[in-house]
Amino acid sequence: MRAFRLLSCAFAIIFSPVGIAQEARNPRVEAVINSLSETRIHGTVARLVSFGTRHTLSETASESRGIGASRRYLAAEFSALSKLPDSRLQPFEDRFTAEPGPRIPKAVELINVGAILPGLDAARAKEAIVLTGHYDSRASSALDAASDAPGAVDDGSGTALTLELARAMAAEKPAVSVYFVAVAGEEQGLVGSTHLAKRLKAEGIRVLAMVSVDIAGNTEGQDGVKDNVHARLWSEGVGASETPEERRLRQALGNENDGAGREWARYVERTAKRYVENLDLLVMLRRDRIARGSDHMSFAAEGFPAICLREMHEHYDRQHQDVRTANGRSYGDDLAHFDAAYTTKLAKGLGAAIWQLSHAPQAPVNVTLGGAVSPDAKLRWTLPDDARATAIHLFRRRADSVAWQRIQRFPKTGALVLKDVPPDNEVFAVSTVDADGNESLPAYPSKLE
Ligand SMILES: [Zn+2]
Repeated sequence: MRAFRLLSCAFAIIFSPVGIAQEARNPRVEAVINSLSETRIHGTVARLVSFGTRHTLSETASESRGIGASRRYLAAEFSALSKLPDSRLQPFEDRFTAEPGPRIPKAVELINVGAILPGLDAARAKEAIVLTGHYDSRASSALDAASDAPGAVDDGSGTALTLELARAMAAEKPAVSVYFVAVAGEEQGLVGSTHLAKRLKAEGIRVLAMVSVDIAGNTEGQDGVKDNVHARLWSEGVGASETPEERRLRQALGNENDGAGREWARYVERTAKRYVENLDLLVMLRRDRIARGSDHMSFAAEGFPAICLREMHEHYDRQHQDVRTANGRSYGDDLAHFDAAYTTKLAKGLGAAIWQLSHAPQAPVNVTLGGAVSPDAKLRWTLPDDARATAIHLFRRRADSVAWQRIQRFPKTGALVLKDVPPDNEVFAVSTVDADGNESLPAYPSKLE
């Protein structure tokens, strides 16, 4: 009984919601995403295609063909962005030697190139958001470094989106740093992103959210569907790095649909809906497509919330195929089938989410769920030491649903009692919000009481 009274005390404050979550658009976010240029995105992809192949093992001496020329081009582009008026970007390079492996017959130098937009909150100097596209490409054979491999959609699209978002956000002043990185060696086994994720972890960087944009520029699917409205967000529900203790708690709390990556995917979907007309992102309840992967998996393996953004309908004749015509059918990932307007629309939705999260207060931590075997759900959490947090959003959905159904706004508080809401029947998470409506990632219960 004593324990129960203490518990009641901890949950004593009962607030009423003061409204639904703010849906107004921030003019600053609108200005940033409206500056994204379809022409520039198309130009970047055209330039990447012009290098013939960007295979990881292709030549490095030529100025016009191969992986060396393409990465020097990208490094120069990111460097130029850092010299724009008012730009706060700092060029970034992650250079290493990949040792021989299944798709790397001999040791080869790989270089991830990009830029960092430094965060301004000194207390959060080690927190970051990471956006990647992979700039390497491949032909039919994973080891063919000589044949043309234009890689317009896979993954010129993601690389161009990353570069263009870096340009659009160059002068912004987020709370936490944003890394914009064109990563190497994806087609050889996620080699570049694996190195980058491990490097950031070793540097003590806490990646709040990572997104790989990979195959995000084709709107004519092999299934015959033309679609420039939808795209897919892939995320794992159960963290790849889950410990046995975390597993025990997840099973007790029923959290299998609320991994940190999944919350980040929902965040992107929600923010994109607010800012971009005629764009509908699907939160896919899978780590990725069947038996396939991308660079988000490298970050998930290090325990970071990581997702992948992809087009809705893929065309497999244009992926990992030698450029050729056979039996009247054309193969290859050429520029003609890249839809820059669609990639630009995806950049707007994703850019709004990255902007908002990078400017948001710290999230609550130690979210604790109580009230089992009772009619009232009891939630409490530790508020961050972040003066910008002015309110709380409570996320709710019935336990038979996978998408948040209600977002209620509360005054800044560290505890809530939900009368006549049995915790068995709903799922909850809480986020912090600042005066401008910038919202942290929702934190779901990680403790039971
Ligand atoms: Zn790819």
